Amino acid sequence: MTEDTKNKEVSLVGLTRKEIKESLRKFDIPDQQLNMRVNQIWGWVYNKGINSIDEMTTLSLGLREELKEYHNLERPLISDEQISKDGTKKWLLKFNDGSEVETVFIPDDERGTLCVSSQVGCTLNCTFCHTGTQRLVRNLTSQEIVSQIVIAKDSLGEWEEEPRQITNIVMMGMGEPLYNFESVRDGILTMSDDAGLSISKRKITLSTSGIVPKIKMAGDEIGSMLAISLHATNNDLRNEIVPINKKYPIEELLEACRNYPGLSNSKRITFEYVMLKGVNDSEAEARDLVKLISGIPAKINLIPFNSWPGSSYECSDWEQIEKFGDIVNRGGYASPIRTPRGEDISAACGQLKSDTKKVRASEKYKKELAKIESKRIGRL
Ligand code: SAH
Ligand code: SF4
Repeated sequence: MTEDTKNKEVSLVGLTRKEIKESLRKFDIPDQQLNMRVNQIWGWVYNKGINSIDEMTTLSLGLREELKEYHNLERPLISDEQISKDGTKKWLLKFNDGSEVETVFIPDDERGTLCVSSQVGCTLNCTFCHTGTQRLVRNLTSQEIVSQIVIAKDSLGEWEEEPRQITNIVMMGMGEPLYNFESVRDGILTMSDDAGLSISKRKITLSTSGIVPKIKMAGDEIGSMLAISLHATNNDLRNEIVPINKKYPIEELLEACRNYPGLSNSKRITFEYVMLKGVNDSEAEARDLVKLISGIPAKINLIPFNSWPGSSYECSDWEQIEKFGDIVNRGGYASPIRTPRGEDISAACGQLKSDTKKVRASEKYKKELAKIESKRIGRL
């Protein structure tokens, strides 16, 4: 070990199989044993959730000692943890460079959903979304995406316990997942791996504001369930509230949805529709919505608007949401209304925002981050 590599351990938690394998090449392991060693480490990290390399008892003592010179099993720091009166749990996680994101666990009768972030902040500026008011600081690495699940499992005591509490994952936390495609793809492939965290792709939903060119790639290379943040039925309104629509208008977005690989009645697209009083919640718009998505295997998720300090919208009246839902339902589409959860701890949809906004993403800072990332990869 050189001076340079000393004390610069990389955590194995959150790494992909490929990254672990690359890392093992620096040890004296015969090529034909490499995959077996990767599988063993994979099981310890993602199946057992261990905290110390010493516990990897299927590896020789010598290999464990060597591994410890370069690696550890550290998780990101939990800066804050809050529990709502409805049982929703929110963690504020801090990564090595100081940037922070939020992860939310929403327990329900028969399932538990973990809402995972893909970026620190978001570059897009949907007018009803709190995260959109935060400057993008950076994309998360796939390691940082996966470590959100590991932290949640630690905190919920899920490693030892059956049945599982986290049954579903939604990429609906901070950020636009399709603007961080490779990391989100590698993260989802890691969390869905059968021999590890083993969360079926059918139980993982990627939500996008509509980055059209990446939708087909997501279908081909990720294969999770897809949710589209539609929120409006005409381009004029959508340009205003989901400004990325100016680049990728509704017609192109719906065309990409029609072509999403693997769609069927059992694999439907979810269209998310945030209910904004007097803005997008008329009965005429409900009818337009049904026409617009006709022919696409889909369901519509109606999301009561969650307000945040400084937001200029109001949530539609409950009666109006129900009327809207009935029309969509009669049009042949399931239209569940999403119950707001964790509002008292600002954990509901669109309320997430971390204090990392205070760090200006100046060019200099971005360069620093690029350096951190290239060193991280170099050390593997
Ligand atoms: N960037 C992705 C995923 C994160 S946002 C996307 O936009 O799809 C997750 C969901 O929360 C989206 O449907 C988003 O439109 C919705 N959302 C954002 N702000 C909200 C708010 N204030 N109230 C309710 N839902 C909101
Ligand atoms: Fe970004 Fe999604 Fe919020 Fe829009 S709704 S600002 S895409 S996180």
